[in-house]
Amino acid sequence: MELTGQNFLGNELSSNGNKKFNAINPSNGEKLLPDFREATLQEVNEAARKAADAFQEYRKIDGDRRADFLECMAENIENAGNELIQRCCEETGLPEARITGERGRTINQLKLFAGFLREGSWVNARIDRSDPERKPLPKPDVRSMQVALGPIGIFGASNFPLAFSVAGGDTASALAAGCTIIVKAHPAHPGTSELVGNAIRKAILEYKMPDGTFSLVHGRSNEVGLAIVQNKHLKAIGFTGSFNGGKALYDAAARREEPIPVYAEMGSVNPVFILPGAMKAKSLEIAEGLTASITLGVGQFCTNPGLVITEECLSTEVFYKEFSDSVSKTEAGTMLTEAIHQAYELGRNNMSQQFGVHQIAKGKDGTEEFNVSASIYQVNSPDFLKNNGLEEEVFGPSSLVVSAKDNKDLISIASKMKGHLTASLFATDEELDNYKDLIYILEQKVGRLLINAFPTGVEVCHAMHHGGPYPATTDSRTTSVGTASIYRFTRPVCYQNFPDHLLPEELQQANPRKVWRLYNGEWTR
Ligand code: NAP
Repeated sequence: MELTGQNFLGNELSSNGNKKFNAINPSNGEKLLPDFREATLQEVNEAARKAADAFQEYRKIDGDRRADFLECMAENIENAGNELIQRCCEETGLPEARITGERGRTINQLKLFAGFLREGSWVNARIDRSDPERKPLPKPDVRSMQVALGPIGIFGASNFPLAFSVAGGDTASALAAGCTIIVKAHPAHPGTSELVGNAIRKAILEYKMPDGTFSLVHGRSNEVGLAIVQNKHLKAIGFTGSFNGGKALYDAAARREEPIPVYAEMGSVNPVFILPGAMKAKSLEIAEGLTASITLGVGQFCTNPGLVITEECLSTEVFYKEFSDSVSKTEAGTMLTEAIHQAYELGRNNMSQQFGVHQIAKGKDGTEEFNVSASIYQVNSPDFLKNNGLEEEVFGPSSLVVSAKDNKDLISIASKMKGHLTASLFATDEELDNYKDLIYILEQKVGRLLINAFPTGVEVCHAMHHGGPYPATTDSRTTSVGTASIYRFTRPVCYQNFPDHLLPEELQQANPRKVWRLYNGEWTR
């Protein structure tokens, strides 16, 4: 299929703007065709108007049909076949196996939401029957459930061209919730975005979903993103990217006449604590696993372990040596964009100039355009505790090892930490019992705690929580991965003294959809 480089305003193609840009192949720096047209303010506004109109119909479409629609999207993405995989590899420099795996994840994510919709209990139906005889006042009939929020703006992420982009987690959860969407394609992979956009558009036409349910706009300047956030029709934003980008959009949304929530996932350094017993028992295994986790996807994951905290013991020296040997054998990798490449080099440079910080390991150098090598630094805990900047993310295959003297030191480091997405603890069973205080502190700092496992590789499932306290995200109560992410795009509505036939099916007395409900205080279906 020939790429058009145009914006999708609902089902219509549009290219009214003069600003053009191209995707760049990060492996060789070459421009890829065609030119893509940046959306104008009028085009963004038209997409938003259509999304608002479509919402009035789409929100009423029942869960089973929305589930069929999501599955059709999944099928169409699969059918986009090798053309999608090849274009995605060219635009990102990521290897074919990774992209194929990510396509599988994207498809399964849509199918997971389809199953979730068919099961139906996600609406959190609550019913309190009336009691006209209650004294001193009769009790009313009160029922509530979650309903769709409205049109949503979604920002595709550079580092997950499929799973966190046009048909990614935010799209799946918003469409599942009954919301219509406008996606801003990430400018690093506009061709991939158009191909996936086509797969969604095809599903819309096949399932006769309202025109405006999905729009896709392109842009390489902040104006397009800001126009989305500022549009009065939009009711929430889903974002994955940099702290600066996420915070700017959050602030812009807060300044609107009607402020709206911005669910921004802005990354973190995902501290990994290695306790002495675990280090002694499996030092080589941890060293090699850590190296693999740091260099996975050229370190361009929000769950990349950017901070490793070790406690001084007899095995520390051996562990450092094994870790350093393991890192020195890693090959260079190609970063996603020139800007990300530059930011990594700047971050590395900055790290090596900090007081008390030394480079202790380096991977092999490469020859391709945006190649980088892994870099590991070390600092002692007093210098780390004095320098807040050392907790900043260096996006890429880089990590800082902090050497703590003892358990007390470890607790001081954990207590001082900001919000992160994850924290991992490598420990023996005995240590887990002895370091409960550390676990209690980490529980307050992150959204996901792992024992004897690395944070990269986020399972898409019902129980997953991918989020964390600020500055990891702008709302620690929500997740951007897994089916619970649907609640970012819903709100509760309470129906008091409603006639049965006017209630949504999930709240009707006969429970025709057979969903679990909290009925007079007891879960029943
Ligand atoms: P980004 O700069 O945050 O951009 C993400 C999206 O937000 C793009 O569509 C961008 O559009 C838009 N945007 C950014 N700042 C904006 C602003 N002030 N106003 C309006 N729109 C704005 O992220 P990136 O391009 O993917 O990579 C840059 C850095 O982000 C990386 O070096 C890394 O540090 C971080 N990052 C973090 C994660 C994570 O997992 N949390 C993922 C990827 C990247 P325009 O380009 O059109 O402005």
